[in-house]
Amino acid sequence: MDKSVTGIMVYYYAVCRKKLWYFYHEINMEQDSENVKIGKLLDDSSYLRDDKHINIDNVINIDFIRSQGILHEIKKSKKIEEASILQVKYYLYYLKKRGVNGIRGKIDYPLLKQSIDVCLSDDDIEQIDKIVTEINEIISMKIPPISINNKICKSCAYYDLCYI
Ligand code: SF4
Repeated sequence: MDKSVTGIMVYYYAVCRKKLWYFYHEINMEQDSENVKIGKLLDDSSYLRDDKHINIDNVINIDFIRSQGILHEIKKSKKIEEASILQVKYYLYYLKKRGVNGIRGKIDYPLLKQSIDVCLSDDDIEQIDKIVTEINEIISMKIPPISINNKICKSCAYYDLCYI
């Protein structure tokens, strides 16, 4: 199994293929982004009593497991919820491929005081198999994919790189 595809890469794949390419090639502008600062702040102040940052094979970095069998991922907003769901499904997929079954996922939005459950279906497994292949194709490209011209670009750390 391919160990090079991480949870954050799956997230970026769902957000923007170009962002995924930049990230993989270590063109990293996220430190400067205000959104990332808020994320880090949240990370430090939320759920202090729970285990945090469980790292498995350097591939998945789970925010914390609050109670047995539930994997939690903390997000600050629901803006790109589809990508967050795919990221958590990838964690479940990765664990399942390693024989860890019976785990469920949850995405927590502490700022919104909301959470959603995430499960992995057989269809998801099939889809993620294809996504992993596609991610490997994207990161192997010599030049980045084209810009997506989406409203999310305005708040992306790579905006200047893509449009200015
Ligand atoms: S600015 Fe838009 S096109 Fe460029 S990396 Fe970000 S999301 Fe992708």
